[in-house]
Amino acid sequence: MTVDQYVNEARERLLEELFDFLRIPSVSTDPARNDDTRRAADFVAAALERAGLEATVHPTAKHPVVTAVGPRVPGAPTVLIYGHYDVQPADPIDLWTGDPFEPTIEDGVIVARGASDDKGQVYCHVKGVEALMAVDGALPVNLKFLIEGEEEIGSPHLPAFLEANREDLAADVVVISDGAMVAHGTPTITYGLKGLAYVSVRVSGAGRDLHSGAYGGGVPNVLNALAEMIASLHDGQGRVTVPGFYDDVLDLDDDERAQIAKAPFSEAEFRRDAGVRATPGEAGYTLLERLWARPTLDVNGVSGGFQGAGSKTVIAAHGMAKLSSRLVPNQDPHDIAEKLEAHLRAVAPAGIEVSVHVEALGHPAMTPLDSPPMRAAAEALRMVWERDPVFARSGGSIPVVADFQRILGADPVMVGLGLENDRIHSPNEKFDVVNYLNGVRVSAELLRSLARA
Ligand SMILES: [Zn+2]
Repeated sequence: MTVDQYVNEARERLLEELFDFLRIPSVSTDPARNDDTRRAADFVAAALERAGLEATVHPTAKHPVVTAVGPRVPGAPTVLIYGHYDVQPADPIDLWTGDPFEPTIEDGVIVARGASDDKGQVYCHVKGVEALMAVDGALPVNLKFLIEGEEEIGSPHLPAFLEANREDLAADVVVISDGAMVAHGTPTITYGLKGLAYVSVRVSGAGRDLHSGAYGGGVPNVLNALAEMIASLHDGQGRVTVPGFYDDVLDLDDDERAQIAKAPFSEAEFRRDAGVRATPGEAGYTLLERLWARPTLDVNGVSGGFQGAGSKTVIAAHGMAKLSSRLVPNQDPHDIAEKLEAHLRAVAPAGIEVSVHVEALGHPAMTPLDSPPMRAAAEALRMVWERDPVFARSGGSIPVVADFQRILGADPVMVGLGLENDRIHSPNEKFDVVNYLNGVRVSAELLRSLARA
């Protein structure tokens, strides 16, 4: 029997089981659902046991983490599969066509909260393992699972869990299916995520607001100063002027530029979607290169001085701005926050006091395109979808992915099994039946191809 035949024969049962999983309202943000998140963790553990692994449910300060381990396969690589069993709240409930926790199938589409994000994609892997066990009688790799219950609330306990279980979870590759293909029937591998350095800067001048007639022209104006400081962050070519900002940036090589140029992307559609008339940015790079592979620095908010109706003639005592930088490999968020602070202090006009507070930091993550796990993932997707996968980077940040790389030494392979239009986090979330069943096939083929890589 082949994996394909197994999936075809088991089709109804694979759907039934996923439906049972989707019926558990494991909303991680809602304390009233704590029993349900616990139930979902137990459900995942039981499903992994049935697939032939040894599963454990680990309590945390909030929702449990489920881990599982397969039989030892000497000489084979170790693969960790990551996903999450928690879901977003279903609100607003009245915009759903049915009960969000009573899955339905219509026109080949499963509708339920969590169908795509991430229960459906997690279940693809659980059933992929089951299929391999049934067809081959064994697994080709040392397999581990890590399915958490706090992804939708920012994974607060996961980094500490990884640190504490570093040895047990160590892996060569971590497979993450918590995303989307760029288009229906177009298998996609995401190989890069941006990091983040977010700071607040506060500028102070006089000890109090001053009359702009009596003092204007004779004292520092903090808001003029703040505007000058912000304006100094970029040059006329859209480049960031913070000294050392680009020092550690991994430059795009010709191969990657060619790959990016081939990605299905329409600038016109991008403009329409964003509601913008121009797409300014760093000179010398295409729009998609800037979005995916170049670091950026943006002002997120500015405040200070008189904000009321009418006119008040005043020189403000304080001003504040929030700045965020999206980072690319191999920039370090701590280093960039420090360089940003040094630059702001250096350019502050005389008499302006500057204080910088770091709000958030996240490491970028990337797996080289020509690495064995990437080639293995491409091979598995090609086999199932019968076409070449698209390689994509993302402007977004998922800090846990960098944590896997940093703490466990595992190269991330991000294979999204859903679609961009799956309405995740929204009413009527969906997952196409074909994506579910092909996801099971992809999971099985991926473990086989990783074993060969
Ligand atoms: Zn998710």
